[in-house]
Amino acid sequence: MPDATAAVMALTAMLAGAAIGSFIGAALVRLPEGRSVLAGRSVCDACAAPIAARDLVPLVSWLALRGKCRHCGAAIGVWQPFAEIAGALIGAAGVLLAPPGLAIPAMLLGWQLLLLALIDAHHLWLPRPLTALLAATGAGFALWSGWEAASLAPLVTAAAGGVIGFGMLWAVARGYRLLRGREGMGGGDPPLLGAIGLWVGPMGAIGTVIGASLIGLAAALVMLLARKDIAAETALPLGTLMAMAGWAIFLVNGWG
Ligand SMILES: [Zn+2]
Repeated sequence: MPDATAAVMALTAMLAGAAIGSFIGAALVRLPEGRSVLAGRSVCDACAAPIAARDLVPLVSWLALRGKCRHCGAAIGVWQPFAEIAGALIGAAGVLLAPPGLAIPAMLLGWQLLLLALIDAHHLWLPRPLTALLAATGAGFALWSGWEAASLAPLVTAAAGGVIGFGMLWAVARGYRLLRGREGMGGGDPPLLGAIGLWVGPMGAIGTVIGASLIGLAAALVMLLARKDIAAETALPLGTLMAMAGWAIFLVNGWG
C-alpha cells in the first residue's frame, strides 16, 4: 500500500474512532444508569439540555468548553476526551499495525474492548450484553474467514479459544471459591476471556492472561514508584487488564 493511501486511511480511521470514542464516553455515564446510548438525541447528563452539533466535535468541543456543559456548567468528565483520543488511536493502530487484511476486525475489537475496559475500570462491571456482542462478532468473523478459505480451521481455532478462555478463568474462580469460601474474581471475567478467546484463539487466550498479569504488575510498580498507596480502588480490574492485553495480542497475532 502506498504511503499516501495508508495515511489517508489512518486519518479516516482516526476520525471515525474519535466519533465512536465520543459514544463510548457517553455510554460510560449512561449504561450504569440503564439509559440508552443510541436512542434519543444528545443531551447534557446533568441538565438534559440538548447539545448543539458544534459542541459534539470530539476533543475539540471538550477543550473549547473547558470540560463544562455550555448550559449548566456541569463538569464533563475527563473520561470523555480520554475515550475520544483512545478511540482515534485504536482506529489509527488498526490501519497501521494490524496484520494484513485485519484492519477492520482490529478496530471493531479495539473499540468494543475500550468500552468494556472503561466500564470495568469505573464500575467493576462487565455488562453481559456487551460481552455477548464481543463473542458474537468474534464468532462472526471466524465464520466469515472460514467461509472465505473454505476451511473449518478458523472456526476450530475460535471455538478452542472461547472454550479455553472461559474455562481457564471459570476453573480459577471455582477453585478460589472452594478454597477461600468467597469470590476472588468478578463474575464477568470468565465470559470476557471466553469472548476474547473467540478473537485470538487458544494461545491468544493464554497470552491474554499472562499479558494482563504483566500489565497489572507494571501498573502496580508505577504506582509504587509514584508513592501512591495501592488500594483496591486504585488497582486496575482484571477485565480492564485483559482487554488491553487481548487487543495487543490481536494486533500482533491476528486470529491466532
Ligand atoms: Zn448541562
